Formats: sequence, structure tokens, C-alpha cells
Amino acid sequence: MNYVSTRGGGQAVSAAEAIKAGIAPDGGLYVPGAAVKIEPAAIEAMKNEDYCGRAAAILPYYLTGYTGGEIADCVRGAYSPLSFDHPEVAPVVRLEEGVCVLELWHGPTSAFKDMALQILPRLLPLAAEKTGERAEIVILVATSGDTGKAALEGFKDVPGTRIMVFFPDEGVSEVQRLQMVTQEGGNVGVAAVKGNFDDAQNGVKVIFTDESFNKEIKEKGFKFSSANSINWGRLAPQIIYYFSAYLDLQRQGLVSGGPVNFVVPTGNFGNILAGFYARRAGLPVKRLICASNENNVLTDFVKTGVYDRNRRFYRTLSPSMDILISSNLERLLFELSGRDPAVVRGWMGELKEKGSYSVGSGLLEKIQSLFWSGYAGDRETLDTIKKTFDEKGYLADTHTAVGINVYNKYREATGDGTPTVILSTASPYKFNRSVARALLGKEAVAGKNEFELLEILSRESGTGIPRNLKNLDKKPVLHGTVVEREAMAAAVKDFLGII
Ligand SMILES: *Cc1c(COP(=O)(O)O)cnc(C)c1O
Repeated sequence: MNYVSTRGGGQAVSAAEAIKAGIAPDGGLYVPGAAVKIEPAAIEAMKNEDYCGRAAAILPYYLTGYTGGEIADCVRGAYSPLSFDHPEVAPVVRLEEGVCVLELWHGPTSAFKDMALQILPRLLPLAAEKTGERAEIVILVATSGDTGKAALEGFKDVPGTRIMVFFPDEGVSEVQRLQMVTQEGGNVGVAAVKGNFDDAQNGVKVIFTDESFNKEIKEKGFKFSSANSINWGRLAPQIIYYFSAYLDLQRQGLVSGGPVNFVVPTGNFGNILAGFYARRAGLPVKRLICASNENNVLTDFVKTGVYDRNRRFYRTLSPSMDILISSNLERLLFELSGRDPAVVRGWMGELKEKGSYSVGSGLLEKIQSLFWSGYAGDRETLDTIKKTFDEKGYLADTHTAVGINVYNKYREATGDGTPTVILSTASPYKFNRSVARALLGKEAVAGKNEFELLEILSRESGTGIPRNLKNLDKKPVLHGTVVEREAMAAAVKDFLGII
């Protein structure tokens, strides 16, 4: 199966080409050229497999051109007990009757990005090899906090690659910042950008599509690629855990063959889009519930069909979802508009020029038949953390709490009692200050440093601090660069030693 651009430019390319390139040359995103179908019998057969077995069964549908042996090796390396601190990799935990939490944060950086970014650095060198690439691959990442660290961890010291990460200087939590600026590895670069996530992401997009810059680095033996969720190599591994969660519910007798809902704390629309592709491939999914924070551009979109980024940008307690341009939505629009690149080009043009577009009633109906959307403000998020802990004994991070809150709103609005899985996207320890504040009040956390807060949370909740966060305060800061938006390209040149 080949991949095509959502904007219709260029030729169809192999999975390896799509993964190597990250973004299509016309600025569009790669999507499967044909629908993937996983037959019910094949799904059933995965039931008694472990996470790696399920991954090895699903990925070949999307990564044609990779051998079964290659995929199996990538999977075993990525989801090994050396990296994941839970034997089930992505365990499903019961929250209440008919409602479970899918914990996606047992990887090395304590956020769901590890689910894809532990395996992408294994798929990418193979992609380079398969496509006869001689250049050294340079991964550029814009991060709202979690992608950056997960990509650094995944790519550190991977031969034939270098990685440079840009994060918004005031848009990440202290733990997230420390995780990045203390990153070790001989092939890594990290810089803070003055601006918000959208500024950083736009800066990276500009570099990717700058022809003369690309030509210049090519002459020096480099080639850019992306580890952002616009890369299909990020999307495909995320499809796995939707299947895996469903199979775990089946195994626990919570569903037989009927549909489930998934609730997804959403930012760039990558995670929830993987759920959409899982459904397309045959997983029985009733509704995908898109949960946003105060940056509720997607909530409005799903309600009205108008995407309008002309609004105030909020810094919230769930910073990994502080996004006004959800890049992966472009893939959904392509799929639901009858795979018509001209239509997608039109909307993306309007988004660029005036910051908004409207999809019309036909498409809106299709979207609403699959998706429901809501949002939670910071106060609601904190209250949900406290209430969930007090009443159910479950400690949720701020992003997960947005999901739980929006699920309750969904339940109230629709009365739908379908079994539901809420995706938990970060460990509560990663957003320790907000979580401790929710449990204990503002006064109790005032003046406490991040590491005292980790201890306090551990004591309060009776759970262990993830090993990667425990010793962060003892690590030296290795990356202190702060750049203006306009200076991102110069920072890349500096990193590559090009003058
Ligand atoms: C990245 C991230 C999200 C948003 O995921 P998208 O795929 O960008 O929609 C939500 N929660 C956490 C903790 C994240 O790191």
C-alpha cells in the first residue's frame, strides 16, 4: 500500500518514503492510499497476544514494505521492559462500572508520546535504508512539552540520525523543561523559542518547506525529517493501543463484540485520529470523544463545522493541549470529504490566509456521527482530579482529568451508557504541581520545589515516582539556548555546524 498527500501533490510513495519525509513535498500530510481492513477473525486472533504480539500483527497492514521480521524486531525493542515500567505496556484500569482508563504513560518519559516515539526511531533508519538514503537524517521537532522529550529519548545516539527540539520558552511545565534541557546524547540539540507552541510549530514547518535551505543542507550531507505527529510513523503505532484496549476489555469480559467509546484528551489531533483509523480498519468504535481545554477550537468545530483559530490563546494547566492549529485534522478532512485534495487545499488555504474555514453541513454531519466534543477549564480540571481521587481512588494528571470531565459532560448530554475507555496521556507525576494543588490546595504547594512535590504526591497517593523523574534535579543542564522565532533556522545551522 502506498501513501498519498492530503493536498494531492506529488506521487504516491511507499510507507518507508512517507516515514522518511515526515511531511509531503506540497505541504500536505501522508495518508494511506487505500482503506485498511482488519478482519474480525484477525482481531480475535490478537486477543491472547501480549502488547508486542498485537503490535506485530497490526503494523504490517500499514507498513507494507517492512518485513514481518523487521517489524517484530522494532516492536520488541520499543516496548521492552527496559523502557516500559508496566508488563502490559498500556494497561487498562477500571475507573467505575463500564468506564476504564487506558494508561499510555508507562514509557521512559511518562507521557503517551513514548508509545510512538519509542518505535519511530527504529522504523526511520530502516526507512532510510529501504529508500537508498545516504544523507544523515535530521529530525526537527516542535513540542508543546511531551513530544520533545519523548523524541529526544527515542532518537538519542541512534546511528545515522540527529535530533533538534524547539519548545516554547514559557509554555511547558518545569518538569518538562528539565527533562529536555538535561537531555544526554551525542546527536541531540534543544532550544527554547520565544513564543507559544504554534509559533514553534510554524517555524519548523517553514524550515521544512524552505527549498533553498533544504538544498543547502543536502549539499552538506543532511536531510530533514519530522518526528511530530504529522509523520505517519507516529500515527501508525498509535492505532495499536486502541485495538489493544478493546481486546483487554474483551478479555476482562467488559465487552463481548459490541462497540466502545474512546475519550481522547486532544491537542494536535494525532492521538484521536489514530482512533479514527482504528475504527476504519474494523475496530467496533461508537464515538470518539474529543476533549479539549480552554483552547476549545475543536469543540467549536465539531459543534458548528467552523474552524476558527482567531481567538485568544490560553496557557492552561494541561499545556500539551494548548494548541490552536490541530495539524492532523487535515487528515480527517481528507478522509471524510471523499478524499478530495482540492477541497482540503481550499480549506487549508483559508486557514492560512484568514485563520478560519467552514466545512459545510454535509461534512459536519459525518463528523458529528463519529465525534463528540467538549472542553474543561482549569478550575474544572482541578476539581475533577480531586473528585476522581477522593471518590474512585484514581490519581489523574491534568490532561487525563480534562478527558474525565468531558466524558461526564458527554454522559450527561447523551445518556449514552456504552462501555468507554478514557485515554490517560500523562503520568500525574509529570504535572506534579497542578496535581498536588488539586489534591491539597494552593497554599500547600506554594514555595515547594518540583522534587518536594513529587515526594508529596507519592505520599498522598501511595504510588511510586516514575524512575525517569526521580533524579532530574541531580542532572546537569546541557542545553541553555533561547532563540527568537526568526532565528530558528540559524539555530539549526548552528547545531549542524553549517556556517
Ligand atoms: C501530546 C499530548 C496530548 C495531545 O495529543 P495530540 O495527539 O496532540 O492530540 C494530550 N496529552 C498529553 C499529555 C500529551 O503529551
